[in-house]
Amino acid sequence: MISIFDIFSISIGPSSSHTAGPMRAAFAFCQELLEQHKLTSIHKITIDLYGSLALTGRGHKTDGAIFLGLEGEEPATVDPENSKSRVKQIENLKKLNLLKQHTIDFAPDEDLHWHLNETLPFHTNGLRFTALNQNAQIILTQVYYSVGGGFIVKEGDEAAQKNLPVPYPFTTAKDLWQICNEHNLKIKDVIFANELSWHTENEIRDKLLNIAAIMESTIKKGLATDGILEGQLKLKRRAKALYDKVNAPDNTLPPCTKIMDIINAYALATAEENSVGGRVITAPTNGAAGVIPAVLEYYKTCTNVKVTDDNIIDFLLTAGAIAILYKTNASISGAEVGCQGEVGVACSMAAGALVAAFGGTNKQIEKAAEIAMEHNLGLTCDPIFGLVQIPCIERNAMGAIKAVNAANLALIEGGEHRITLDDIMLTMLQTGKDMQARYKETSLGGLAITAAEC
Ligand code: SF4
Repeated sequence: MISIFDIFSISIGPSSSHTAGPMRAAFAFCQELLEQHKLTSIHKITIDLYGSLALTGRGHKTDGAIFLGLEGEEPATVDPENSKSRVKQIENLKKLNLLKQHTIDFAPDEDLHWHLNETLPFHTNGLRFTALNQNAQIILTQVYYSVGGGFIVKEGDEAAQKNLPVPYPFTTAKDLWQICNEHNLKIKDVIFANELSWHTENEIRDKLLNIAAIMESTIKKGLATDGILEGQLKLKRRAKALYDKVNAPDNTLPPCTKIMDIINAYALATAEENSVGGRVITAPTNGAAGVIPAVLEYYKTCTNVKVTDDNIIDFLLTAGAIAILYKTNASISGAEVGCQGEVGVACSMAAGALVAAFGGTNKQIEKAAEIAMEHNLGLTCDPIFGLVQIPCIERNAMGAIKAVNAANLALIEGGEHRITLDDIMLTMLQTGKDMQARYKETSLGGLAITAAEC
C-alpha cells in the first residue's frame, strides 16, 4: 500500500516528476556514495538525462534540481528562495559541494548530458549518475527513474513491492468499496486506519493539517504576487488581478460567476507559484498542484458550511484514497499517460473529496471521481518550451471548476452510475498508452509546436 503522505508531499515547483523526483534521485545517489564510504574519493560526477526528462528538463528546472539534490537538498526542506541563487552560483563557479561535505569541479555544459532521442527501457523519465575518481575510473554508476508524483525507482528495484502491512489492503476501487461495505466504513476511515500502521493518530492529523495549511499559504502568496513569470513566454501572472477584480466593490462581473472566478483565482495562484519554483504540495503532481487546494479553499470560503479540522482531514484522506487507486491501477505521470494523469487525476481526487467533505455517500464519492476523469480522458501534455505554464497554469483552473461540477452532479443526482471508477481508470490507462509519445510531456507536439511556431 502507498501512504497518502507519499501522494501529498511537501515539494517545490515546477514539476514533481521533472524537479522533485530528479532531486530525490540525486540525493539518493550521493547518499549511496556516502554509505559506501566513497563520497570523498569522488573527483567528477556526470549526469545523463533521457526521454521526457531530456526533452522538457530545461523548462522544468531539472538541471538545477539535480545540482541541489547532489548537494544534499530534498524537495520538502529545500528553501525555494535561496535555491535559485545557489543554482546560479554552482553554474558560475563550476563547483558542486556533494552533500555539503566534499567539493568537486562541475561544469554543467560538459558534465550534464541531454539525450533528446534516447529513452531508457523502464520509463521515459530516466537519469543516470556516474561518479569517477581522480584516475577517471568509475566508482559508482546508477540509473533512476522518476515515475510521476515525485516517486523514484532505482534500476534493479523495478519489481520490488513495498509490502507494508495495513489492516485494509486494497488494489482496485471495487476492493475499497467492498471493505467499506463489509465494515460499514467511509473511505476516509479505511485510509485513516491504514495510516495508523505507520503513524499515531495525532501525527496523521497534524501532518494533514500542515499540508492544508501549506496549500492555503501558497494560495495566499500567489494572490498577493503579480508580475511576469520566469521563462521565454514572459507570461503575466493572473491570479492576483482576477482576485482583486472579483473583490473590488465596483466590480461589474456577473454575480453568478463570482464563485467560479474565485476558484479560478485560487487555482491560478498555486499554479503560478509552482511555475516559478515556489513551495507547493504535490497533489498528485506539481503540475496539477493547483486543483486540490483551490477546491479545498472553495469549500472553506465559498460554501455555507462551518468547516472544521475534521472536515479538512476527511477531504484530504478521501482525495488521497482516490490518488492511491490511480497510482496503483493507472498512472499519475504526464510522461506516461499525458495530462489526464496529472490534472485529470487531481480533478478526480478533488471531486470525490468534495463530496466526502459535504457528507456524501461512498457511492456518490465514486460517481464524482468517475465523472471528473471521464471528461478529462485523452488530455494531452504539450507544455510550450517545456515550461510548466501553458497549458498547465490555466488547466489547473479548468480542473478545479470541473471537480466542483462533478461533485455537484454526484451530490444532486445520488450515487447511481453506469461507469465505475475501475472502468474509467482502465480506460485512462489504455488511452494513455495509445497516445503518441509527442503528447506525453515531450514538448514535441500539440501546443508546444503550433504555439511556439506562431
Ligand atoms: S500539461 Fe499537464 S501533465 Fe503536462 S506539464 Fe502541464 S500540468 Fe503537467
